[in-house]
Formats: sequence, structure tokens, C-alpha cells
Amino acid sequence: MARRAQLIFLGTGGGRFATIYQTRSTGGLYYRGDVNLHIDPGPTALSQLKRYNLDPTRTNAILVSHCHPDHYNDAEILMEGMTEGTTVKRGTLVASKSVLEGTDEIGPAISEYHKRVVQEVIKAEPEGECEIKGMKVTFTPSKHTDPTTVGFKLTNDWGTISYIADTDLTQAVVDAHRGSRLLIMASTRPLYGKIPFHLSTEDSAHIIGEIEPELAILTHFGLKVLREKPKMQSDWITKKTGIKTFAAYDGMRVELGDTPRVLGRSNPRSKRLNNKKRI
Ligand SMILES: [Zn+2]
Repeated sequence: MARRAQLIFLGTGGGRFATIYQTRSTGGLYYRGDVNLHIDPGPTALSQLKRYNLDPTRTNAILVSHCHPDHYNDAEILMEGMTEGTTVKRGTLVASKSVLEGTDEIGPAISEYHKRVVQEVIKAEPEGECEIKGMKVTFTPSKHTDPTTVGFKLTNDWGTISYIADTDLTQAVVDAHRGSRLLIMASTRPLYGKIPFHLSTEDSAHIIGEIEPELAILTHFGLKVLREKPKMQSDWITKKTGIKTFAAYDGMRVELGDTPRVLGRSNPRSKRLNNKKRI
């Protein structure tokens, strides 16, 4: 039996101003288990790895959902980490078309040089999938201002974790994530604060109610959510749907045991999270 995997929230802020002012960190989400995955490494991803004692040279893949800086900003330097300073061709970059190639409006975000240093570069388009060291990664649709935005489903013998990146509420998004045990979503806007191309608290409640995961976690909070208290949003959803919903905070860990369980905050520099090869 493999050791229990954990998710570590390296950042829980999102949107322009929560990112610019670093009201919360924006370092993305780290899956640590038989495979190590860093999802959406925005600004501070690198420093948050150091803070929580995670070694960037141990990352197997970097997943980037779309070409906005709160999702891709630290990707290149983390690719240098993943390749041990570009000395070893290893690791996988999985990213949207906008991040890899650019669109008419935005991107690309990764230089040709950096694409060459990793072992594999995979363009993530809805309904595609890849496998990274026994973890199946399925790419899911989104409706966002970057039209090539994707979400991710991570599936192994534990079951499926869904990561819904920036998106508007659509039936396609709901349908793509059915069957997930743990649902993590970019819930950038608060109750009564709906704007196009992002999920509000009501939208998140709708998706959670449809999918019925064992646990739902809200993250990627915009400034308005942070002012109106993320826990109020998650409590409202728990009450409305009957499904346990948490508002993530920086450093929060979730253990993927018999059931997904919030363990609390990682102790910065704690030995428990020490997977360093060298310091
Ligand atoms: Zn975005």
C-alpha cells in the first residue's frame, strides 16, 4: 500500500487584486504522493515550496490550467527546479494551448528554451488525458476569458480528485467532474457577487450539489470573498447542499485516506513534510 497522499494548498488567493496585493498567497496546489504534481503555480509558488519544505527537484509534473499570471507565473523557474537546474531532462509540463503556444489575445507563457529542458510537454485540451507515474490526468472544459482554459481530474487507485480552474458555470463543467471523491474549485466570487467567467458561491454550491463529492474545497479567493470571509461562503454551501465544504487557507493540508480529511495547516519548515534530497 502506497503511503497516504496529501494535498497542500500553497496559495488560496486568486484574481487580479488578491494576487497583486498578496492578500493570500498564490502558489497553487501541490499533490504529494507516489507522484508529485504542482498545479497552477502563480506568484510565490517557489517561495511557498521553501516555506513548507517541499523540494522543487522532486516534482514530477507541473500542470497549468490557463494563461493568467495567478496560474502560470512561477512555472518556468519550477521547470528549472524539476530538471535539477536544467541539468537532467526530466519531468512533464502539462498546460493549456494558450500557455504553450499562445492565442490571438494572450500568451504564450513558457519560452521555447524552457519547453526543451523538460522530458515531455503535453498540450491539455478538453477530453484529452495523459498519465504521469500511475496518475491519470484528464483535461476538462472551462468557460473563461482565456478560451483554452482547462480543469484537471486526477485519478489513481484512491479515486478521483477534481480541480476546477477559473470558469463560468456550465453543464459541460458539471458533467466532466461527475464521480469525483474530492472536488477543489476556484470559487473566486462571493454570494451575490456573480461576474461572467468565474464561479460565485452560488455557482460552486450548484456544482457541489450535482457532483456530491465526499468533500468539497473552495480556493482561489478574490478580494471580495476575502473581505466577506471565505468560511461564511463554505458554511453557506454546506448548509445548502448537505455536503461538507471547506474554505482553504494557505498551508492547509488534506490527507487522502479512507476518506479525504482536512489535517490543518502545514507547519512551515516542519520535518514532517521534508522530502528534500539536499538542502
Ligand atoms: Zn483566469
